[in-house]
Amino acid sequence: MTRDPIPLSSQDITQAEIDAVVAVMKSDRLSLGPRIGAFEEAVAARAGRKYGMAVNSGTSGLHLCVRALDIGEGDEVITTPFSFIATTNCVLFERATPVFVDIDPDSYNLDPAAIEAAITPRTKAILPVEVFGNTAHFDAYEQIARQHGLHLIEDCCEALGGVLGDRPAGSFGDCGVFAFYPNKQITTGEGGLIVTDSEDIRDLCVSMRNQGRGTDAWLEHARLGYNYRMSDINAAVGEVQMRRLDEILAGRRRAAAMYDDALQPLVDDGLLHLPPMTQREAASWFVYVIRLADRFTQADREAVMDHLKKEQIGCNCYFTPIHTQPYIMETLNTKPGDFPVTERIAARTIALPFFVALQQEQVTSVTEALQIALQETGR
Ligand SMILES: *Cc1c(COP(=O)(O)O)cnc(C)c1O
Repeated sequence: MTRDPIPLSSQDITQAEIDAVVAVMKSDRLSLGPRIGAFEEAVAARAGRKYGMAVNSGTSGLHLCVRALDIGEGDEVITTPFSFIATTNCVLFERATPVFVDIDPDSYNLDPAAIEAAITPRTKAILPVEVFGNTAHFDAYEQIARQHGLHLIEDCCEALGGVLGDRPAGSFGDCGVFAFYPNKQITTGEGGLIVTDSEDIRDLCVSMRNQGRGTDAWLEHARLGYNYRMSDINAAVGEVQMRRLDEILAGRRRAAAMYDDALQPLVDDGLLHLPPMTQREAASWFVYVIRLADRFTQADREAVMDHLKKEQIGCNCYFTPIHTQPYIMETLNTKPGDFPVTERIAARTIALPFFVALQQEQVTSVTEALQIALQETGR
């Protein structure tokens, strides 16, 4: 093969991020220093929120939201089986009960009608996800939460910079959580950030991320807490990445548009579906996930992915449905067949190589490999 391997994802780091890290390393504050506040302000402003609280991962952020809203044993939280596992785990951490409902096939986000049908007297919160960056239905979720007196936690870990109408991702419900693992739109290496307008949620998260400390003495602990702090080294990277966010999102939209064009003939031939995305012209793309037509089986999908990998093209199957993960089936008594829309879609998705520096030749190579692999299935 003459071309280089094409990775699934790749971070977009410039000399400015490197310089920012070096500056922190030469300062006297590696943690609990000034870069944290600057990064928090930038993300909160982008989400249209008053407060931002940086933490060491998106998962930690979701966990603190669950605790700050006093969600615990006996409480039900309606959430999606089509997500990254952390969405469910943060509920299980507090011995509350995740209640899965199925997704809307046109957006891959939770189906609002299914949420309403699942509300019981024990329901305390709704925890939806902007799957792959798609902001669809978040206004509806907010309305449902308000009508039924429920909390709404927005898992916007995949949607930084996205919009629904004129509302930014992160602005819905009680609080939202962003994440900064290297495959996200922006990265801090590892990291997460909670946004909210509530002073109570802010105070609780600030305390709990820092060992449950109150506001005064270093060794006074007001409540059960954790070490979920982000370091200033990570925050400095995030601060520069936030300054570059619009440029990064534009680069990702450019990459998505190249795929949209290149793959349209395969769509016209009935082979696959392009990723659903609300407001494509302003969208925040996390990953570019195609879906094979329904006549292809899960085994066909694996064969297509094997072919891509053989061609050194990075790919992945986002997501294995959460309700079919073995320990979830054991804990929550779920089983394959419970959520047919999620399962039909999850069996046929393929995430393609996707990053700012993606080149047209790479998109062409991926498209050709896909075409050959689909032919080889014989369907
Ligand atoms: C990335 C992600 C998270 C958090 O991930 P961390 O690795 O803990 O930062 C949570 N939910 C979703 C939907 C995600 O994509």
